[in-house]
Amino acid sequence: MPDTMNRSKHYDAIVIGAGPAGLTAGIYLSRARLRTLIVSEGTVGGQMILTHEIANYPGVENISGYQLAGIMKKQALAFGCEIRSNVSVRNLEPVGEMKSVTLSDGSTCTSDSIVLTPGGRSRTLGVPGEDNFKGRGISYCATCDGDFFTNKEIIVVGGGNSALEEAVSLTKYASKVTIVHQFDHFQAFEHAVEEAENHPGIRFLMESTITGFYGNDNLEHVTIRNLKSGRIINYKTNGVFIFIGYVPNTEFLKGRIELNKWGEIVVHEDMSTGIQGVFAAGDSIAKRFRQVTTAVGDGTVAALAASGYLHELKVKHKQLISA
Ligand SMILES: Cc1cc2nc3c(=O)[nH]c(=O)nc-3n(C[C@H](O)[C@H](O)[C@H](O)COP(=O)(O)OP(=O)(O)OC[C@H]3O[C@@H](n4cnc5c(N)ncnc54)[C@H](O)[C@@H]3O)c2cc1C
Repeated sequence: MPDTMNRSKHYDAIVIGAGPAGLTAGIYLSRARLRTLIVSEGTVGGQMILTHEIANYPGVENISGYQLAGIMKKQALAFGCEIRSNVSVRNLEPVGEMKSVTLSDGSTCTSDSIVLTPGGRSRTLGVPGEDNFKGRGISYCATCDGDFFTNKEIIVVGGGNSALEEAVSLTKYASKVTIVHQFDHFQAFEHAVEEAENHPGIRFLMESTITGFYGNDNLEHVTIRNLKSGRIINYKTNGVFIFIGYVPNTEFLKGRIELNKWGEIVVHEDMSTGIQGVFAAGDSIAKRFRQVTTAVGDGTVAALAASGYLHELKVKHKQLISA
């Protein structure tokens, strides 16, 4: 079935984003016989397709993110969900019973409900080689990739709570962890700093930054500049974990949906937002843990809550007609 179908229909639900949260919402909504459209800025799969191997998705042993995304897409399509990839949202009118979404291809779709799942991205260092070695030595997720670096010497970049907590957790796998941080002090809570500083498996390169990533098929070494002296050293390593912040893809929602100071979507327990009929799920919402499993769980809750809302709306309209 082609990704592109009728371009100006009315839907029961429009899901924005085709990562695990959006695809799960699409599966549940279309299986409930609700006319559902998923729109995705990029290729279907979201961050999953950047993942070489997913080893922690229960029930599926060692599958590539690309394969898992393909299965989820197939399931959604089989239940009648429409999917449009490589289109982004230009304008969103979420208030009122009739919602409207204008897409980058110029089309406008309307719906009774919206599920927002635009995900997010890790902040990058933006230095040479970083794009080349993503997933081949560079990681932004200790829970996802720590195991691949068992008995290896690795680097953790960053000085906030995530960096220090993840550095400690990575000592379960790595033989040595070196934290590279640009300042002479950390921006983390005292207990996290103490735990990292007292850990025998962790050492520190303060006032330093990575300036380049090098290797052949996989990462082999990095260059590190001391920001005080300007001295550059070559450092042999097969693994670098970067924890310098996370950016939700919610720029297009500013002024339309309540976002917190980090740009994350504020949701209630049932994934509803402050606007009736608008729900959100996955990495873009305000929460602590970001995984495929948590995105799938949020997507389920959002879809079930949206189904409930759509049912109530139908009942209300029937009562108005018969009154
Ligand atoms: C390198 C890497 C490895 C990882 N490994 C693992 C792992 O092994 N195990 C694990 O559990 N988790 C892993 N994760 C985390 C996991 O991939 C994410 O937590 C999960 O994909 C989040 O799902 P999501 O649906 O919320 O968002 P995403 O996967 O980010 O999907 C968001 C979707 O929204 C679309 N979108 C964004 N903005 C717009 C817009 N304006 N209009 C239309 N569409 C839009 C995007 O194109 C995308 O389709 C990894 C992440 C990375 C980056």
